[in-house]
Amino acid sequence: MLSIEFLYKNFIYSVYQYKFGYLSMKYFNFLRKSERFKREEILSCQLSKLKRLMEYVYINIPFYRESMKRNKVYPENINSLDDIRRLPIITKDEIRKNYSKIINKKISRFKIRKGHTGGSTGIPLQYVRDIYTLAMADAIILRGRYWAGYRLGMPSAFLKTVGRPTFKGKIRERLINFHSFPAFSSEKELLKILDHLLKIKPFFLESYATNLFRVASLCYKNKIKLSIPVVFSTGEKLLPHQRELIEFQFNAEVFDYYGCNETGVIAFECKEHHTMHVADEHILLEVVDEYNQPVINQPGNIILTDLDNYAMPFIRYQVGDTGILSDRICECGRELTVLDSVEGRTGDMLITSDGNILPPIIINTTFRNLRGIERYQVIQKKVGYIILRIQKNELFDPSELKQMLFKLKNLLGYDTEIYVKEEQYIEPTRRGKFRTVISEIKSH
Ligand SMILES: [Zn+2]
Repeated sequence: MLSIEFLYKNFIYSVYQYKFGYLSMKYFNFLRKSERFKREEILSCQLSKLKRLMEYVYINIPFYRESMKRNKVYPENINSLDDIRRLPIITKDEIRKNYSKIINKKISRFKIRKGHTGGSTGIPLQYVRDIYTLAMADAIILRGRYWAGYRLGMPSAFLKTVGRPTFKGKIRERLINFHSFPAFSSEKELLKILDHLLKIKPFFLESYATNLFRVASLCYKNKIKLSIPVVFSTGEKLLPHQRELIEFQFNAEVFDYYGCNETGVIAFECKEHHTMHVADEHILLEVVDEYNQPVINQPGNIILTDLDNYAMPFIRYQVGDTGILSDRICECGRELTVLDSVEGRTGDMLITSDGNILPPIIINTTFRNLRGIERYQVIQKKVGYIILRIQKNELFDPSELKQMLFKLKNLLGYDTEIYVKEEQYIEPTRRGKFRTVISEIKSH
């Protein structure tokens, strides 16, 4: 007899991910094998992908060709993974400035998907990904969920939606037994969502760390005890006390995973917990110190190379997060690289007019596709009073600012007073980070 999982893998998933479902499943089957590869096999798989990518960008992507020529690195010189270090690290700003020279114009528009990111840096970036990297990232996230015990077809819930979901989106979700709820809701709305969750009985619940903590705190306050086998936390650093309360209140096993919009999921926690495995099959991840020298077992800047994206290659991309790379082999036996921690994804909480706590990631997600506002910072002086600092660029249009104010009021309360301050430059913190959300309310 055909199992439910077989049906999902071979038919339903292809309808759900109609653009690349078949590819996702093909990659997923490979990833379930490669996660048990010996270290040498993993590195050799990375090197062959890297060589192929470098050969391609040298011929097709002017930005990288020029950089390779300048640094005298030619495709035939890439003989080890370390050779990539002869190329410079690139920042979000450089990608923005060289956008037209990084975009691959040869790939059909049917095989790409455009996206926007703001992240914790508050610098919006438009990016393009091809279906191969999308399918690979999709398969990696599915593999991570399988590590936690999920199987295709099980009911699952997400508290991640920003904006109104489309009708098509809703149908697709039902197909795969996914149930989405808004990322940010008032306490009253959240209690209704919790009621829904009791009915759906999801195998897993996924949201942002601060949001999960907020829901767990609300459950604690209202003496609601849920029983959800698995909770996935993402988007922000999950602090130990947050994990503890979420585990207790949901009676759940908590798994953290790390990703960014530009490359998709990067690392996933396994059942050993407190550590994550890098998806080496997709990402070449480096951690470097302030002199751009590689470091192990100590914090440094995370540098990413997406081995699958040929539509807009990210090679040695400084994503803006810091982390600690480990040389340990995980107890689970997988020899995929171990990432001990990811920092730099924290921010202050805002308080809405009706007393709800708004996680900073909601602000970052809401404003990820700004065009004429180069950088922004939301500073809460007190409840109901915000200073919005903006740094404009040549694409600035007053209607964009008007929209931004409208969305801020929508989140924080319509009676919120917002004072806009135009700046020549919004400076980073002493540690070189940009903060999009700052609260000056003492208790937070
Ligand atoms: Zn492990």
